[in-house]
Amino acid sequence: MFENLRAQPEDQILKLMEQYRADQRPEKIDLGVGVYRNSQGVTPVMQAVKSAEHQLWESQQTKGYTGLAGDPAFVSAMSDLVLGTDLAQARRAGAATVGGTGAIRQGLELIRLARPDATVHVPDPTWPNHTAILQAMGMKHRTYRYFDTETGALDMTGMLEDLAAVPEGDVVLLHGCCHNPTGADPSAAQWAQIAATLQQVNAMVMVDIAYQGFGDGIEEDAAATRLLASKLPELVIAVSCSKNFGLYRDRAGAVLVVSLSARHSAAVQGNLATLNRLAYSFPADHGAALVQMILSNPGLRGEWMDELTAMRDRINTLRTELAAALQRETGSDRFAFIGAQRGMFSRLGITPDQVDTLRDAHAVYMVGDSRMNIAGLSMEQIPTLARAIADTCD
Ligand code: PMP
Repeated sequence: MFENLRAQPEDQILKLMEQYRADQRPEKIDLGVGVYRNSQGVTPVMQAVKSAEHQLWESQQTKGYTGLAGDPAFVSAMSDLVLGTDLAQARRAGAATVGGTGAIRQGLELIRLARPDATVHVPDPTWPNHTAILQAMGMKHRTYRYFDTETGALDMTGMLEDLAAVPEGDVVLLHGCCHNPTGADPSAAQWAQIAATLQQVNAMVMVDIAYQGFGDGIEEDAAATRLLASKLPELVIAVSCSKNFGLYRDRAGAVLVVSLSARHSAAVQGNLATLNRLAYSFPADHGAALVQMILSNPGLRGEWMDELTAMRDRINTLRTELAAALQRETGSDRFAFIGAQRGMFSRLGITPDQVDTLRDAHAVYMVGDSRMNIAGLSMEQIPTLARAIADTCD
């Protein structure tokens, strides 16, 4: 039977990680895989998570099953973290999922149950797994203009034009903050325009928010999602705890759904539970339990917020410093966008050949579309990186 299996394309980022590991050059710089690293190049377990794990070890009495939608206390804590407390609880439903990827999958499954023929409109570019999942599910999908490669900024005119042409009942996927792979996010005023356009076309909106707290702050990074929730009748939100709680391998995430009324929320809730049942019965709980403890305990929450602030400050300082170093090395403002963008990623906007040259001649590793994980850098590496980029782009 397995004769019939097609070989799957290699995961480009995992391949890059292998190449990086095999590279013997001591000055090598890894800007590939999207995980946060501290100044020592380590992806640490957050102290708040360690403390919560300690407390959980002391207090947990059973590892019996949770509910099919996970622990309601976790879902409710995530809902308040993302949506704030203003939105009526009766309009909310949600389920714990296997990481943010599970949330995207379950959110799309729910949409497909409700409207099997809908086309999902995703930004160009987007996280490649969005398109891969849509493809695997056999859902129709297409892109809307999002990014201007020339300027490294949002293509706001193109985006609004494309969104205004979305047929009623289709689905629009947006990144809530810290767009992956470009780092280009709409401003508050632009989000207001986007929300107004989506209201007009009456599209179903799905927000993927995987980096809350990595851009400008916990509240600031949720502002766009909250705006959409306040303006639109319905909203699906896929949330990941992988980055902002550093829980990558523990697979904590949630799909949150805002609907018109308590009656709709009840139907959504039942469907989310069933979708979890069909995929893996119960979502993983360890990471979710830690997140719930951290968010509900003021001491742990304060500690977590401080750690997250330090991570965000490190990324934003690296951005400012790298943009300044590139300005000095190239004598131009070509890369100034790096300082203005948010989150872990920016796209340099160089050719695949130049990406290869950076790797072969300078031991600088980034994804083929020239996406860089800024959080992979140390301050000491900035001058070397800036010189390598300037050299390569001459
Ligand atoms: N959405 C986006 C945009 C992401 O970049 C990621 C992680 N790379 C995710 C969702 C999902 O992350 P995870 O499944 O690890 O929680």
